[in-house]
Amino acid sequence: MNDPQRSLKRIPPDTIAVVGIPWDVNSSFIRGPAEGPEKIFELIGAGSTNLCAEIGLDLAEAERFKLLGHLTLENGPKAFEQITSAVDTLLGQGGRLLALGGDHSITYPIIRAYSNYYDNLTILHLDAHPDLYQEYKNNALSHACPFARIMEDFPHTRLVQVGIRTRNPHQRLQASRFGVESIDMRDWREDIKLKLDVPLYVSIDLDVLDPAYAPGVSHHEPGGMTTRELLRIINDIRIPIIGADIVELNPQRDPLGITVMVAVKVLKELAAKMLSSD
Ligand code: MN
Ligand code: MN
Repeated sequence: MNDPQRSLKRIPPDTIAVVGIPWDVNSSFIRGPAEGPEKIFELIGAGSTNLCAEIGLDLAEAERFKLLGHLTLENGPKAFEQITSAVDTLLGQGGRLLALGGDHSITYPIIRAYSNYYDNLTILHLDAHPDLYQEYKNNALSHACPFARIMEDFPHTRLVQVGIRTRNPHQRLQASRFGVESIDMRDWREDIKLKLDVPLYVSIDLDVLDPAYAPGVSHHEPGGMTTRELLRIINDIRIPIIGADIVELNPQRDPLGITVMVAVKVLKELAAKMLSSD
């Protein structure tokens, strides 16, 4: 499980590969998300919960579901190239990615790889923050910027954001410049049905949840979703999902392990949805 770079080359077609991306160099406030993937894999192996999703699919028995462990990344600018190249290898085999962050900056190098295989991606982005800064603290690759980079490089992307509750004037301008669609948290209602297109990629920042449900994140932002609301959004997706990430778990702020359990729950339901909706 410790050499996913090698395993990625041998992945059977249409397998969901769970790959940790232990990277938090682009976190703007505090570090910690690099420890996220290890905690998630540890918890899965610990016996405190099983791998059954609510629709009845047991991921432990699913042939097309593989826990591959985490990438070994260099500690500099080459890391993003390594991420893109690893994802490219997986997609070249016909696999699908379920990435575990890591901070949200990793979504940009992931989408760079997807852009080699898919045009006109739709990205469903669940987050308290729009992550659309042109640059943040002199870092254009900050975890506050990935969706600005994606929309610049791949302008045909349809970006649908849900759960935002920190939008400032700069990010409002950026959203209109890039044609971003958004249902901010204050406008979110349980009965809203999202209209999404294929090919669909899903990016989940755990801080979309209220800190009461997921305290183990770097940026606590009150007034967020319940875990059940997030699961319902996932469960209501009726089209194939070609890839996904779950990011921003910060184990240093998760002393009771509540948030890592939430991450595992979201992973299970998302993986089951990916396996069942194609
Ligand atoms: Mn984010
Ligand atoms: Mn966020």
